[in-house]
Amino acid sequence: MVVGARSALYRRALEVIPGGVNSPVRAMRAVGLDEPFFVRAGDGAYLEDVDGNRFLDWVMSWGPLLFGHADADTVAAVRSAAERGTSFGAPTEGEVDLAAAIADAVPSVEKVRLVSSGTEAAMSALRLARAFTARDRVIKFAGCYHGHADTLLASGGSGLATLGIPSSPGVPSATTSHTIVCPYNDVDAVADAVAHYGEGLAAIIVEPVAGNMGVVPPAPGFLAALRDLCDASGALLLFDEVITGFRVARGGAQERYGVIPDVTILGKIVGGGLPLAAFGGRAEIMDRLAPAGDVYQAGTLSGNPLATAAGLAVLRRLGHDVYAELERRGARLEAGLEPHGRVQRVGAMATLFMTDGPVRDFDGAQACDADRYAALFRHLLERGIYVAPSQYEAMFLSLAHGDDEIDRTIEAVADFDR
Ligand SMILES: *Cc1c(COP(=O)(O)O)cnc(C)c1O
Repeated sequence: MVVGARSALYRRALEVIPGGVNSPVRAMRAVGLDEPFFVRAGDGAYLEDVDGNRFLDWVMSWGPLLFGHADADTVAAVRSAAERGTSFGAPTEGEVDLAAAIADAVPSVEKVRLVSSGTEAAMSALRLARAFTARDRVIKFAGCYHGHADTLLASGGSGLATLGIPSSPGVPSATTSHTIVCPYNDVDAVADAVAHYGEGLAAIIVEPVAGNMGVVPPAPGFLAALRDLCDASGALLLFDEVITGFRVARGGAQERYGVIPDVTILGKIVGGGLPLAAFGGRAEIMDRLAPAGDVYQAGTLSGNPLATAAGLAVLRRLGHDVYAELERRGARLEAGLEPHGRVQRVGAMATLFMTDGPVRDFDGAQACDADRYAALFRHLLERGIYVAPSQYEAMFLSLAHGDDEIDRTIEAVADFDR
């Protein structure tokens, strides 16, 4: 691997950007790299860095790129939109088209509001749930990530429901004291928490397939139990489908598992690789948002015309053939990786955990061999294959990953094991 321009860029970056990166995971420190590579361009399933190295990319911008880098339809849609102006701060047709496409695909969504990031969508959905229920408390799950809004930046003790403690300096403990953290897949812990706090409970928020502790599927009955607990207590069920939306099925995890939340949070694929996210649900809930209702929420760049064009260029191609093909390729990847660790996969998202048994929750994910994962990461990168620079992430399959890319990856992992 050639390393030249990268080092100079990283030194410059360190002088003007905290840690040299605009999102911490990009520094690639968890896998023991001294410096990250800097991307010059992407094409299909491949990245090229500033030193001319080519990498087969399994990160895919952390999920948005279902058709690969520089997808021709997306690029054409964005270029054509840009020629008509990049932002207006007034309504456009693209926003209506994208909202309609989301409502058509996602079972729980009658009305939807567009925002610019998953963080913003989750934060706004929670405000709406609190207003709608006139309650403050929220249950979240250890190992699930919902962006970096204060309320949701809470971690808990292990193995039982606990009051959230701030997981970053700068988050007031008064804010996270309204957040209860439960272990993922643990219905008893959630039932306990609801019994304790149910009267003040505004919402349960969950990644219906966890993707931010590595891929952890919901245990059979887990999502349905959350639905029942919400119905019994009057809390709203919020599915954070920022990763799973348009990935594990056209209608997301709610379609795949047949459990319908009150509010759905979307991001990543819905913006086709541009900064766009959304939250939506029943009209009765969504109409509490200003100016229809009294809950304030706004954004200068919300529903940006470039982003809606990119999102539409992706969503309009998502037929059942797409998901059948992703499933076939996912199964091929899973079968090939299986001898080398514990593979957990749902559709087009998968994690190779460095352990033998099933990973059901964050404690299980943390028990995996992170050093071994870091060694695998470096082995693969040397061979031109870029997987997530952390054990707690997923491999994101796209339609640009063909059988050759899958087989080459499997071969390189097998080589690591020898
Ligand atoms: C990425 C992610 C977010 C945050 O989205 P951003 O656009 O990075 O703010 C929220 N929830 C989940 C499940 C995510 O994976």
